[in-house]
Amino acid sequence: AWFKDPRLQRVFRLLNADGGEGRVVGGAVRNSLMGLPVSDIDIATTLTPDAVMERAKASGCKAIPTGIEHGTVTLVIEGKPFEVTTLRTDVETDGRRAKVAFSTDWQADAERRDLTINALYMNFKGEVVDLVGGLADIQKRNIRFIGDAATRIAEDYLRILRFFRFFAHYGSGRPDAEGLRACSAARSKLTTLSSERVWSELRKLLAAGDPGRALLWMRQVSVLTEVLPETEKWGIDAIPGLVATEKALAWKPDPLLRLASIVPPDAERLEKMADRLRFSNAEAAYLRSWAAAPAVDDEMSAAAIDRLLYRSGAEGIVTRLKLALAVARGKADGDMKEMSRSARLGKLLDRALAWKRPQFPIGGGDIISTGIPAGPRVGELLAKLENQWVDENFAADRATLLARLDEISR
Ligand code: ATP
Ligand code: MG
Repeated sequence: AWFKDPRLQRVFRLLNADGGEGRVVGGAVRNSLMGLPVSDIDIATTLTPDAVMERAKASGCKAIPTGIEHGTVTLVIEGKPFEVTTLRTDVETDGRRAKVAFSTDWQADAERRDLTINALYMNFKGEVVDLVGGLADIQKRNIRFIGDAATRIAEDYLRILRFFRFFAHYGSGRPDAEGLRACSAARSKLTTLSSERVWSELRKLLAAGDPGRALLWMRQVSVLTEVLPETEKWGIDAIPGLVATEKALAWKPDPLLRLASIVPPDAERLEKMADRLRFSNAEAAYLRSWAAAPAVDDEMSAAAIDRLLYRSGAEGIVTRLKLALAVARGKADGDMKEMSRSARLGKLLDRALAWKRPQFPIGGGDIISTGIPAGPRVGELLAKLENQWVDENFAADRATLLARLDEISR
C-alpha cells in the first residue's frame, strides 16, 4: 500500500523524466520486504540536488534543501516528506565522516552503504534491485556488512553500533561472525565519535522490541563497556524481565527505562553519563529524578507510597516502581514469593500512576492573618505544618491546621 501512494508515484514521475531516475532505498525497502511497517521513505536519485530543486520548482512541488551539501532535498507532497538524495560515492573517509562525491553509479552508491539489508533499491515499478546480495540476507535475517567488515568499519566507526542496532531490530540467530570480530577489534575507536551520533544509535538500539540479545553480544565482545562503562557494575541481566514486563503490561518500550535498568542509580555517575552522551534536558531530568527518588519495596503501605510521591515527586518513584516490578516479575516464574511481591509492586505502581498531588490547604497569608508578623518565621511554621500534614497522610483540613498554630509556634 505504501508503494501505491500517489504521492510517491508523483516523486517517481518527477525524477524519472528526461533520463533521470529515482529509487526508494534503505529502511523502506528493507521493512517492506520483511513485512514490517514503512514510515520514512528515502529516495536515491541520479539527478543532482540542483536538478531536483529545479524540477520541483517547475512542477509546483514544495522542495526544501535540507542537506544540499550532502545531496539531500526534501520533497513535500501533500504534506508527506520524501528525502531525495543524490547517488554518492566515497572519496575519502576518516572514520568519523565520509567525504562524498555525487555520482550516477548505482553500484557505487550501494557499496558505500553499511549493511547489505540497507542497500536494496526499489524502482518505480516496485521491482527490487539488489546489487550487494541484500535480498538473501533479508530472508535469513542476517546482518552483514557490505564488503570487508573491518574496512567498512574503519570508514565510519559508528557502523559498529549500527551493526548491533540493526541486529537488535531485525537479526536472528547469531550475529555474522566476521562482523562481530571486526566490531570487537575496532571497539576502542568508538570513543572518537561525536556523542550525539553515539547516543542516537544507542537510543535506537535500546528502543528495539527486544534489545537483550544485541546487548549480550555487545558485552560478549567488549563493545558495550566502551560506550556504556556504567553497565559494568550491574550487568544487563535486568533487560529480559523488563522487556517481558513491558509486553505483559502493555507499556510502551522506553529506551531510558531500559537504560536505567542496567546502570546504577548513582546521581554523580548519571550526571557524567548525561554529559558524556549529551542527553537532552528531558532525558537527563528523567534519570535525575529516578536517582534522587528513594528506593521502594513491595512491603510499603499505600500511605507510605503517597508520602514518598508527595515528597519526591511522581516521576522518579514511578521509575523506581517500574524497575522493581520488572525485577520481581523477572524472577516470578513459579516462585510464589516473587509472584506476590510483583502483585504488591503492581498495585503500588498503579497507585503512583493515578496519583494526584494534594494541595496543602493553607498558605502564608493564613498564618499572617492569625497575627504572626510577616517574615522568615512564617515559612518555618508553614513547613512544619506541611510536614505534619504529610506524616498524617493529608488528613488535616484548614481549620485543624490553623488550630495547631498556637501549639507549634510556642
Ligand atoms: P531507520 O530509518 O528505520 O532507522 P534506515 O535504514 O532508513 O533505518 P537511516 O539511518 O535512516 O537508516 O539511514 C538511511 C540509509 O543510509 C541506510 O539504510 C544506509 O543505507 C545508509 N546509511 C546510514 N548511515 C550510514 C552509515 N553510517 N554508513 C553507511 N551507510 C549509512
Ligand atoms: Mg531512515
